[in-house]
Amino acid sequence: QRRELFTMRQLEPMTRDGKYIVLHANIEIPTEADKVTDFGATGIGLYRSEFLFFRKGTPTEKEQESAYRHILEKMDPYPVVIRTLDAGGDKLVSGVSAVNESNPFMGWRSIRVCLDREDIFITQLRALLLANTKGNLRILLPMISSMTELRRAKACIAKARKQLEDEGHKLPVVKIGSMIEVPAAVMIVDKLAKEVDFFSLGTNDLIQFTLAVDRTNELITDMFQPHHPAVLSMIYQTVVAAHREGIPVAVCGEMCTDPMSVLLLVGLGVDELSMTPWSVMTTKKIIRSINFEDVRDAALTVLQMDDAESVNEFLHKKYAQTI
Ligand code: PEP
Ligand code: MG
Repeated sequence: QRRELFTMRQLEPMTRDGKYIVLHANIEIPTEADKVTDFGATGIGLYRSEFLFFRKGTPTEKEQESAYRHILEKMDPYPVVIRTLDAGGDKLVSGVSAVNESNPFMGWRSIRVCLDREDIFITQLRALLLANTKGNLRILLPMISSMTELRRAKACIAKARKQLEDEGHKLPVVKIGSMIEVPAAVMIVDKLAKEVDFFSLGTNDLIQFTLAVDRTNELITDMFQPHHPAVLSMIYQTVVAAHREGIPVAVCGEMCTDPMSVLLLVGLGVDELSMTPWSVMTTKKIIRSINFEDVRDAALTVLQMDDAESVNEFLHKKYAQTI
């Protein structure tokens, strides 16, 4: 079975009726990039840059530049989405994050920290722009919940770029995207879509915040329901708004590793799926076994349902034999 999966590597991630789904890998350590194409990924859909900050003292511009450059050069000509520092919540960065917050997931984290600590943010942005010698970098902004935050973050990117250009560097154009992982972002998604180049749905946080279910609390794991109608509706609204503006939507949460979720996401119109590298081939196999028209109809049917249990029962009945 392992061997069968490996034959998938060279095959296109295309549904039987010809819809191409981009499959990318999520990584946390730069050297993981050395292997992702072996698993059949055609790019990095999420590099969690905060992992570079889990050490004593924040990494310097030079240190960051070399880490980012490693990934970008290894992946060239494929695209690499690097997410800016997403510290806080369950990912405390010593010397940066606040300790003893009573609600860390809703606290001083992620883009909020970067906008308050411009020194850290600008250093990271300079390193990113300098590392982009191949032009395959895409910058992803986490936890965006308002237009003000998006515009302030974009202004920081413009500031870092201006500094570097004034220092004589020639820099390629960079696509900028927003994570969609806070319900407020979905409620203003049509406005966000006008000011970014792509969206990436962080379903781990989006499910947590939409259902008010702490993603790390074992007492309520049953309530963490990716197929809850509220979650599916959020994903669908994001896709509709993005496509109206002609920008693509990726999903980079854990949801991409569940076969039933994969066909729902494809049916809802998601363009790209990004996941742990070793799930890419299994996902490709699923995509190659389905018809887009069929999963689209299934997704539209499911959007009318009123609870996750009905959705799961429907999916199981319809697809348990296929996948
Ligand atoms: C997410 O929230 O779904 C996500 C991809 O980011 P993280 O798991 O790093 O919060
Ligand atoms: Mg997240």
